[in-house]
Amino acid sequence: MARARKATIAPGATIGILGSGQLGRMIALEAARLGYRSHVFGPGADDPAMQVSNRATVAAYDDEAALAAFAAAVDVVTYEFENVPYATAAFLADRTKVRPSPAVLQICQNRLREKDFCASIGAPTTRYVEVAGPEAVARELRDLGPPAILKCAELGYDGKGQVLVKADSDPKAAWEEMAGHAPEAVGILEAVVDFRMEISVIAARGLDGQITTYVPVENRHRNHILDETLVPARLKPALADKAEGLARLIAEKLELVGLVAVEMFVTTDERLLVNEMAPRPHNSGHWTLDACVTSQFEQLVRAICGLPLGSPERHADAVMKNLIGEEVERWAEAVGDPNSKLHLYGKAEARPGRKMGHVTKLLPKREG
Ligand code: AMP
Repeated sequence: MARARKATIAPGATIGILGSGQLGRMIALEAARLGYRSHVFGPGADDPAMQVSNRATVAAYDDEAALAAFAAAVDVVTYEFENVPYATAAFLADRTKVRPSPAVLQICQNRLREKDFCASIGAPTTRYVEVAGPEAVARELRDLGPPAILKCAELGYDGKGQVLVKADSDPKAAWEEMAGHAPEAVGILEAVVDFRMEISVIAARGLDGQITTYVPVENRHRNHILDETLVPARLKPALADKAEGLARLIAEKLELVGLVAVEMFVTTDERLLVNEMAPRPHNSGHWTLDACVTSQFEQLVRAICGLPLGSPERHADAVMKNLIGEEVERWAEAVGDPNSKLHLYGKAEARPGRKMGHVTKLLPKREG
């Protein structure tokens, strides 16, 4: 420890985590394993991350007194979801280290900024345009579709705030459906991608610029929520390399310190298009806890604390299944399978669509 570089935040220090869900819980658990303490800042006292952290601040993200006290009590701050207000991250960054930086957060929390960023670095996306209201939707639909997908530029996830706009759709109704819960909404209209698979790659970048990537994985959704992740994705090696290269490029150009999960489409004609980026651990990386030398959560801790990154190599293939809502009842079946690892998030109520836990089934590793 004594010989650690000056920029290193050594074990024993306290990691501040903005957000108190399952991702924060798994960051806190892996941080504890490395000898770090955790302090979670979030809205609910019994949230998944609060249950396993050393300290918790239950407060709103705009509570400046609580944020200032939090900044003073931690050595570095990270976040477990990208909808933490930018102002919150910026406020904390004036007082302590925030990694990834608020600038990265700002890009990733807005679909237009995200795609403009991809365009600026030569990372391919589907064609898209900013739309400010129903008239613009009607006008641009002729060029991008029909059909095309109208999305909220901000605060949409798991398919919320998205509408398929067809030739005979009423643009005004589509706009209202998209913007209903956000009256000041800015929209993005996207050309529909003819894809055969959705994949993601998680890249980590350390304080010294070292980058690692996990193997591309294949994601299957149900009701717009991730249902299963297959590891590795069934891709030709050249395309898998290209996907890792894109994630690496994004991490480098973001000047990231931390993790970025890059979701991509594999088109029917074997091209890769970036769909979304998340500057945090990702649901499609949960398998790394059980099948890799270094999990995504440990890698995040290493990156933000200025430690060398660990190996992202996997020692097994895997299928990760989310336990959503009532599926949590499958926990008994999962613990009965000697090759499955059960993770439950400590949520009391199994509401429909709520991620209650996941199971990673380990499989013999195939090369490729
Ligand atoms: P997103 O919130 O952008 O991840 O979108 C949720 C899901 O909608 C994706 O996982 C895709 O299955 C689908 N989707 C989103 N954008 C497009 C697109 N441009 N073309 C086709 N499908 C899309």
